[in-house]
Amino acid sequence: IKSINPLSKLNREIYNYVSKKQEEINELKKMETFRREFLADVSHELKTPIFAAQGFVHTLMDGAIEDPDVAQRFLKKAAKSLDGLDILVRDLVVLTQVESGDLKMHLALINLIEIVNEIFEQLETKAKKRGTKLSLKPKSLEKVLVLADPQRISQVLINLIENAIKYGKENGKVQVAITEEDKKVWVSIEDDGPGIPQDQLPRIFERFYRVDKSRSRETGGTGLGLAIVKHILNAHDSSISVSSKIDKGTRFTFHLAKAPKEIA
Ligand code: ADP
Repeated sequence: IKSINPLSKLNREIYNYVSKKQEEINELKKMETFRREFLADVSHELKTPIFAAQGFVHTLMDGAIEDPDVAQRFLKKAAKSLDGLDILVRDLVVLTQVESGDLKMHLALINLIEIVNEIFEQLETKAKKRGTKLSLKPKSLEKVLVLADPQRISQVLINLIENAIKYGKENGKVQVAITEEDKKVWVSIEDDGPGIPQDQLPRIFERFYRVDKSRSRETGGTGLGLAIVKHILNAHDSSISVSSKIDKGTRFTFHLAKAPKEIA
């Protein structure tokens, strides 16, 4: 019988202990880098609307307020910057909650068709402004029950449909298509806009990533919409995929759990 060398056993234990600690240190370092980058990104994004509002207010104080037309114009611009700041902070709160897993999903049986129609109504003014035609396919569907958090899934649909209106072409079409399978319901949101270059597709779900920076800022985009969508869908055991063709359009697809037959 071979005797166990006590020294080699001790060595092995020390080795295992050190590797485990090394792994923990690496994990902490990764989290620290993430935290630092996140703070740097957030400060940078906050600066833009704050500097803009500050600029307008100071110009007003320096005399522009004397001219009622100029004053009106600058006040409107300052207000727009502050509204943007408000949206950014709200999105940041949601993103930090969903990223940290703190956000509890309240699953319920919901009628997806009802939700899509409500969102179409909500976005009607924005769509009209760009001449966008919103449609749901198939038209005949009245009830598709899924198991999901109604508020969060509305947020996902709003972000995707609003993006399709914002970044799609003027007088274009945005179509939401719903396909039922045995256990899943597939949802796709498709536009016929300018599309997204292939090499940028994997990056659009990163926080603050924008393909067309000026268009995004001009439309009040925070660069957080798709990051929020990705995390909400992950919390639903789903994921989002995107396909796009330049000058043809973009399609986002995800699935949700279909309500069991006995309930539906
Ligand atoms: P934003 O607040 O800038 O809209 P998002 O995270 O929602 O941020 O989207 C990230 C970027 O992806 C946008 O800035 C835009 O450049 C691009 N994008 C999103 N949806 C579409 C679309 N349907 N067509 C073309 N580009 C899109």
